[in-house]
Amino acid sequence: MGRPLTDYRSLSLWHATADDDFAPRPALPGPASYDVVIVGAGLTGLWSAYYLHRADPTLRIAVLEQEVAGFGASGRNGGWSSALFPTSWKRLVAASSEAGALRMHRAMQDTVREVGRVAQAEGIDAHYHRGGNVTLASSKVQLERQREEVRTAHARGFTEEDHRLLEPDEARAMLAATPVLGGVFTPHCAAIHPSRLVRGLARVVEANGVSIFEHTRVLSIAPGRVETEVGAVQAEVVLRATEGYTPGLEGLQRAVVPVYSLMVATEPLSEAQWESIGLSDRPTFSDARHLIIYGQRTADGRLAFGGRGAPYHYASRIRPSYDGSPRVFQDLRMVLRQMLPQLRDTEFTHQWGGCLGIARDWAASVGLDRRTGIGWAGGYVGDGVSTTNLAGRTLADLVTGARSDLVTLPWVGHHSPRWEPEPLRWLGINAGLRAMTFSDVEERLTRRPSVIARMMAPLTGGH
Ligand SMILES: Cc1cc2nc3c(=O)[nH]c(=O)nc-3n(C[C@H](O)[C@H](O)[C@H](O)COP(=O)(O)OP(=O)(O)OC[C@H]3O[C@@H](n4cnc5c(N)ncnc54)[C@H](O)[C@@H]3O)c2cc1C
Repeated sequence: MGRPLTDYRSLSLWHATADDDFAPRPALPGPASYDVVIVGAGLTGLWSAYYLHRADPTLRIAVLEQEVAGFGASGRNGGWSSALFPTSWKRLVAASSEAGALRMHRAMQDTVREVGRVAQAEGIDAHYHRGGNVTLASSKVQLERQREEVRTAHARGFTEEDHRLLEPDEARAMLAATPVLGGVFTPHCAAIHPSRLVRGLARVVEANGVSIFEHTRVLSIAPGRVETEVGAVQAEVVLRATEGYTPGLEGLQRAVVPVYSLMVATEPLSEAQWESIGLSDRPTFSDARHLIIYGQRTADGRLAFGGRGAPYHYASRIRPSYDGSPRVFQDLRMVLRQMLPQLRDTEFTHQWGGCLGIARDWAASVGLDRRTGIGWAGGYVGDGVSTTNLAGRTLADLVTGARSDLVTLPWVGHHSPRWEPEPLRWLGINAGLRAMTFSDVEERLTRRPSVIARMMAPLTGGH
């Protein structure tokens, strides 16, 4: 890291519009002792602190953050608080059963509502709006893939209330993109303002008596203690909530890889433009291409739009300069303008990026090792906004020993294998990332489902 940031508002559209001066909280003054210490003040760390305090208000809890709360992905993301869960269905079934896998997904759907409930109850103005999600089909191949996905979902126990195929007119009425052959709608998604959510949550947690120390970098984690630059913090329980940044911790270089996702945002659009575009109930949106893209209509009337496509950096390096790539920003603006020619004369005012964490088996996990007192959550593969909340509730139950339904969900206690050493890691991940782009080109050219995508599925987490 090592960037002496003076103005965190320049990190993203969300930081710029959070109505927050991001003045850092005090750093840890020196060696200390707590009941629970949490490393990382993103949504994982803060939801964990929130629910732990509610479960046992006598616990002395500290959160240690190397920059400021919401500095990482939690403050920068696309703002989809969705029910998407990255672990493949097959893997969830193997870890539990068909019913267990369905229970995992139902828990995610409840979590979308829980995020909104807490924001409202705690007075966090996160612009939460549960307008669902629309994923368009912009080619026949995409349409066929969507039909197959909905058929499969319904065979697994989901219903029309969860995933519904849209006729072309219906899809176009939701989002008047070009071209639209159909789409899928799910109500299980809310649009949020990421920075307002995470910053508001930090304030709530602090007001409850949790200590948050900022500009406090943790060097290593061990049973009963974490080492910082100003000394050790002793705690019976240590929770690691560092997601994509985890490789920076001693001994955890190969636990997850940091993969970058980048975003652009327009100026606020006019009412006439919105009339011609749609998104009237603010559903988040995407289309069924292989390279992941995601967008939302913000509460202040902009389009915020992002996608993968940035390369993985050798040795899991994280640098401020990687938050931006002129090529990817250019591609994102181009893709959005292709989808929505209505944006011809619209200015793009913001561009930014950040890193998210991917485990070797593409499986998110949460757990607490009772022997060492070390807990963790992460590996959300870009689906962390809601999942962090489920992780926080689960970690609170694991720490306090509550026998809840959450602690038996199939992702609890899962250990992903480590990534390969370099240069294999670099070669494999970048090949996988490239494959997603090539698969879309291949489908456009051949008008058939991509062979590359099928071949690369093991490297790209294909479900
Ligand atoms: C551009 C982008 C778009 C995304 N869009 C979406 C989306 O629309 N929907 C969705 O569900 N997910 C999305 N994601 C993913 C989602 O944002 C993350 O999965 C989620 O925010 C992870 O939260 P976290 O708290 O685990 O990690 P983070 O928010 O990254 O927080 C980790 C924190 O730990 C701190 N830290 C790290 N190492 C140390 C250390 N050694 N000592 C002290 N502190 C440390 C970091 O500074 C950071 O603040 C997106 C991610 C990105 C980057």
